[in-house]
Amino acid sequence: MGRLCSVINCSTRNSNVTPERVTLFSVPKDDYLKSQWINVVCAVNNRETNVKFVCAKHFKTEDIKRTYYGSENLGSEVNNADVE
Ligand SMILES: [Zn+2]
Repeated sequence: MGRLCSVINCSTRNSNVTPERVTLFSVPKDDYLKSQWINVVCAVNNRETNVKFVCAKHFKTEDIKRTYYGSENLGSEVNNADVE
């Protein structure tokens, strides 16, 4: 399996359609930020989720800048595709 967004209803998970070019982020290494990501994804999915990757569709641009690009070691960009 390739890398998939951990959000169950995410449109990028549907392999029957042309994959959208979105940036996929791995969970932050920081425990606190990681727990925040997991909390959000579990809430959205309404079930326990083993969060590995979340795509850029679930972030506001400013959130990415602040929580991801704003500091070191918060996560690693996996797929450098353009975000539409
Ligand atoms: Zn997604």
